[in-house]
Amino acid sequence: MSVAERTAEAVAEIARLGVGTVSVDPALILKVSSDWSRMSPVLQEKVPAGRYLADAVVRPTQPEHVPEVLRVAYEHDVPVTPRGAGTGNYGQATPFDGGILLDLRGLDSITVNPGGTITAGAGARLTAIDKVGRAAGRDIWMYPSTKSSTVGGFIGGGSAGTGTIEHRTTADGFVVSALVAPMDGSGTMRRITGDELAAYVHTYGVTGILVDVEIRTDPAREWAAVYGSFASYADLVAVHRSLLDLPQLPRLASGDEPALVPTLTAPMDLDPTRHSLRVIAEASTVAEVERRMAVGGEHVATLPDYAETDRLSGMSYNHPVWFFQRGNPDRTYFHMESGGTPIWDDPDAVRAVYEGPVHLHLELFGHGPGAMIVAEYRGEEAVLAGIPKLDAIGVGVHSPHQWYVDRNVELAIETARVTDPKGLLNPGKLTATPPVDTRVNIGVR
Ligand SMILES: Cc1cc2nc3c(=O)[nH]c(=O)nc-3n(C[C@H](O)[C@H](O)[C@H](O)COP(=O)(O)OP(=O)(O)OC[C@H]3O[C@@H](n4cnc5c(N)ncnc54)[C@H](O)[C@@H]3O)c2cc1C
Repeated sequence: MSVAERTAEAVAEIARLGVGTVSVDPALILKVSSDWSRMSPVLQEKVPAGRYLADAVVRPTQPEHVPEVLRVAYEHDVPVTPRGAGTGNYGQATPFDGGILLDLRGLDSITVNPGGTITAGAGARLTAIDKVGRAAGRDIWMYPSTKSSTVGGFIGGGSAGTGTIEHRTTADGFVVSALVAPMDGSGTMRRITGDELAAYVHTYGVTGILVDVEIRTDPAREWAAVYGSFASYADLVAVHRSLLDLPQLPRLASGDEPALVPTLTAPMDLDPTRHSLRVIAEASTVAEVERRMAVGGEHVATLPDYAETDRLSGMSYNHPVWFFQRGNPDRTYFHMESGGTPIWDDPDAVRAVYEGPVHLHLELFGHGPGAMIVAEYRGEEAVLAGIPKLDAIGVGVHSPHQWYVDRNVELAIETARVTDPKGLLNPGKLTATPPVDTRVNIGVR
């Protein structure tokens, strides 16, 4: 029997058991079978929308549905690819072998626990979790610039964002525990805690499906969106690097060279001839951030409304790259995610790695800078050739141009041997010998 035939049998049983909504609508299948990999011209060629399609979409609405769906899929040898909001930009949720696309957005419960952690269904959106958390006097440790993505997708496929300067990545204590369903035919779920969690963070669901997650929070603070502008890259960097000595670290500090400024989505006109710095600063540090901006450049505005910090966060990480691509459709641009002090100290050496013009979008990590290096696309070979050159000047790279699990790979393989013995979970994403450079060494962890 083909995968499509086996899937038809499995979803008939899933529908009969009433353990999730089943759809075989071709338009829905097309939509949920791809993600934001279109941001990479390399992936746009390799995994364009429509090339790999699931055979059915199953949407559980109760936590108990997930292990039942997996049990049935296991019996019928049907691949299952989990999906949250589908904003992952590496093709991570592409159902390479067809089968069931498991849409987890129906699991969206949110509970603030007495100790201050928050337990949320895997499909709960970070926007909703943050809203509930703030109302209860808590700040979630971190969220991505795609704040409307799901917490299961963020932990399963994301890594960092607003909050990362203080709390590092999703793999550094953000997750307290996770209820996980394995693909071993058992029809069970198990709460995972401590060191065991590493096998389930940023491993794209290949070791098990996150059903709910318990995440860490801080007591809520007042945050403001602070905008500055600078005549030169050096002036921008002087303030950017100084922010690490603030008594309360900022939640975010994003910078852009002038070329990337016109397509940003700020609430005011940003001067396109100047470098932009945008900081989510804690209230007691705002005056000091404004002062530093004014010494080396210009303090443009401070917007104390919490919603403005969301807007500012929406111009961080991959977003300025996407805005630039969208605003310049006549040319094809790619980006490389990178980290290391040469980004501050020797930007010309970083730019020289790719054929110009090359633009830098800056982020701040607890130990130094990160950058999205943006340049015109001249083929996959040229993109990959830049990785060892960046390495050679002390800049680590995470390549967003491939779909293989790139963190804790050995652990994921070892775990999946037990939790997914038939290799049915998100097939094609886990290998010890990827054919392309998958290195992840941007120094965040
Ligand atoms: C413009 C842009 C900006 C971005 N900015 C950031 C950023 O600031 N920080 C960041 O880390 N990422 C960022 N990303 C990547 C992505 O948006 C985030 O990682 C996001 O949190 C993914 O969530 P999602 O719900 O969309 O997950 P999806 O894309 O649906 O899934 C992501 C991965 O997790 C797996 N998965 C989904 N749900 C589960 C589950 N319940 N159990 C197990 N595995 C699961 C999927 O199979 C897939 O491999 C950005 C992407 C874009 C396009």
